Formats: sequence, C-alpha cells, structure tokens
Amino acid sequence: MGKTLRRCTSKEKKAYKSRSKGKNSQKSGAEWLPSLWQDTFEKLLLRDKELDYGDHWTIDFSYIQTNTLSLEERRGGWKVSCHCTNGKFQCASCQRMWPSARVQVLFRYRLWTGQGWGTVIMRPFGQSCHYCRNDVFEFCGFLKRDVKQTLRRLFAKIRKNCYGEEDGEVSYSLPVCAPKAKAKPHESSLCEACDMGICSQQDRSRTFWGTAAQNVNKEKI
Ligand SMILES: [Zn+2]
Ligand SMILES: [Zn+2]
Repeated sequence: MGKTLRRCTSKEKKAYKSRSKGKNSQKSGAEWLPSLWQDTFEKLLLRDKELDYGDHWTIDFSYIQTNTLSLEERRGGWKVSCHCTNGKFQCASCQRMWPSARVQVLFRYRLWTGQGWGTVIMRPFGQSCHYCRNDVFEFCGFLKRDVKQTLRRLFAKIRKNCYGEEDGEVSYSLPVCAPKAKAKPHESSLCEACDMGICSQQDRSRTFWGTAAQNVNKEKI
C-alpha cells in the first residue's frame, strides 16, 4: 500500500480527449485507453448481442474500487469479478516498456432489475517499473483481442449471475493467465493487484482462481 497512481489523471484525461476527437492513437501499445474498453463493450453488446435480455448496459471506470462488497452493496445486487489478462506497460520516468501476462482487471457490476439497465465499473491494476522502483503504478495498454476476451468472460459471468444462464461457453470463463515462456516472472512487489491481495504471486492460474473463487463465494458471486 502507499503507492500512488500519479499518472492516472493525466492519462485518463488524455485518453478521453483522444476519444472525443475520434483519434485513438496507440503508438506504443502501452497507453491506457478507456475508450478501447468502452467501444469494445458497446460493439459486443450491439453487434454480438452478448447480453441479449433487453437491458441497457454501460461501462464506467473507477481507479479506487476494491473487490470487497459491503452488505448493503450485496443486497443491492452488486457483484465483483476479477480477470487476468495480458498488457503492456511503459514507465513514465525511464520510458522502458514491459509486457505482462498477469494484468488484473476488476469489475463491479449489477443489474437494476425492473429498470432496464445494468452497470459495469472497471478498475485496471497497475505495475511499477522494475528499474526505477519509484512507487508509481503505471497504467497499462491492452490489445483489442485481450479486451474482447476479457469482456466476453465478464459477459458470461453476467449472464450467469444476473440472468441465471447456465455456464455456456466454458472458454470465456476460464482464466487466460497462463504463464508465457517469454514473460519474466511476476514481481509481486511491483504489482498493484498483489499489493491489494487480489493477485497471487504464485504464477499458477489455478492458485489465483482458487483464491478468486473463494472470494467469489464469500461475495456470493
Ligand atoms: Zn522506469
Ligand atoms: Zn500481481
């Protein structure tokens, strides 16, 4: 704890600025672009009918939310879901870039039953530079295919937990957090999700999902 997301505000503003201009310049691939998530979210719903139940779902972002739900929130129908995916980071100080196969994203979601709409709030977790170790968690850039895969897994959860659908497409609900041969070992001390106890240092997807599943049960997901 104690680290800051110093770049959060400026990057976020930049991302929204580029969105409003219709330019999603992703030069390095390491830029955090909320618009990529929003656009993909909308496409998956409108074109692919991922949540075809007649409710209007929206996605928003929070950079402080946790995976803990209060009793009141649980009663209100909020649920949490953590997903692990691939991403690319860039250090604001030394400009070094690094890929990670263990980027955690946390979603809170709920269906406003009878009101015709649903809400998803996403938090991407950052990582610190291995060289600078400057206590700054950088935000991450994602590839569209990873965004799609992550959102599809989320939609599968929503279909199950909000609409009572059976587990259909198993591939969407399985983690994609398998260690890659090329990737460096996950450094817990540089990972914001590890810092919050959300990510597991042991690079075994089963361990992570075992932990997540326990939380999930606790939170009645
Ligand atoms: Zn650095
Ligand atoms: Zn971690």
